[in-house]
Amino acid sequence: MERIGFIGLGIMGRPMCLNLLRAGYRVTVWNRTATKAMDMTAAGAEAAASPKELASNADVIITMVSDSPDVVEVILGEQGVVQGAGAGSVVIDMSTISPAVTRDIAARLAQKGVAMLDAPVSGGDTGAVNATLAIMVGGDKDVFYKCLPIFQAMGKAITHVGGNGMGQTVKLCNQILVSVTNMAVCEAVTFARASGVDPHIMIEATRNGAAGSWQLANLGPKIVARDFAPGFMIDLQQKDLRLALEAAREVLVATPALSLVHQLFIGNQAHAEGGEGTQALVKSIERLAAREKR
Ligand code: NAP
Repeated sequence: MERIGFIGLGIMGRPMCLNLLRAGYRVTVWNRTATKAMDMTAAGAEAAASPKELASNADVIITMVSDSPDVVEVILGEQGVVQGAGAGSVVIDMSTISPAVTRDIAARLAQKGVAMLDAPVSGGDTGAVNATLAIMVGGDKDVFYKCLPIFQAMGKAITHVGGNGMGQTVKLCNQILVSVTNMAVCEAVTFARASGVDPHIMIEATRNGAAGSWQLANLGPKIVARDFAPGFMIDLQQKDLRLALEAAREVLVATPALSLVHQLFIGNQAHAEGGEGTQALVKSIERLAAREKR
């Protein structure tokens, strides 16, 4: 069984790491804020002093940090993974970051004989806890199959989607689909309410037909109940939409609906709603319609 190094013990990384321990893997952890690694060591992990040290004792190194510059820092930095990883080891980045940056990192690692997979996830903290994450994987197919049991300890729908960076591209497609559908739900609820239709009834009447979606079934009732607690925060969604806009511009694909929802979320952030769940997008729609409800 491979020795695993796990970097980034945040909302997602902690439960994912715990699931690897439960599956019987030997895991070494590193977290920038060292105190957050303490309960992982209590659960059986070893702690490393740096990503470099962690990599020198691991066959597979997993990163689950925030954004592109953070992944670059933990992998390519002075104390980064690349300084300690041996030829034949594999780096799996499970954060959501830029496809182009992913390809650059993979090329740098390849110079040392280290393979890379980009394997961003969907399913939120619940999926991470229950090991039911959807995992979209880019990189060499043989390396993917070698790492499949590791993915199976953390997720359910695991798909190899192409070469390096393509896992990230598919994750950004996922975010376009999710956010544009969310915008449609917010508009429909606001329109129904303004027209005197009970929005609960509107959701019940439409959710099993052609208009049905995860967003309508799960976020719709929260919007109607004015429950804006975050499942997925607007600030994090904005990071993903920025990445999607940048990546789409690189290949000269106009994404008007994506641009619009990104702008509306900026309105939420300006109203200090960035820490709320993405369903709070309805507040931006309501402000446009002069139908604010608190
Ligand atoms: P989080 O709770 O904010 O955790 C971020 C982790 O990254 C922390 O361990 C943090 O260390 C570490 N980190 C950030 N910048 C770093 C740097 N420059 N150097 C070293 N460590 C750094 O975030 P999360 O929700 O777990 O999300 C992690 C990734 O998964 C993100 O790319 C996110 O977009 C993606 N994702 C999240 C969800 C979700 O529902 N939350 C769903 C799917 C995908 P400290 O403890 O020191 O701050």
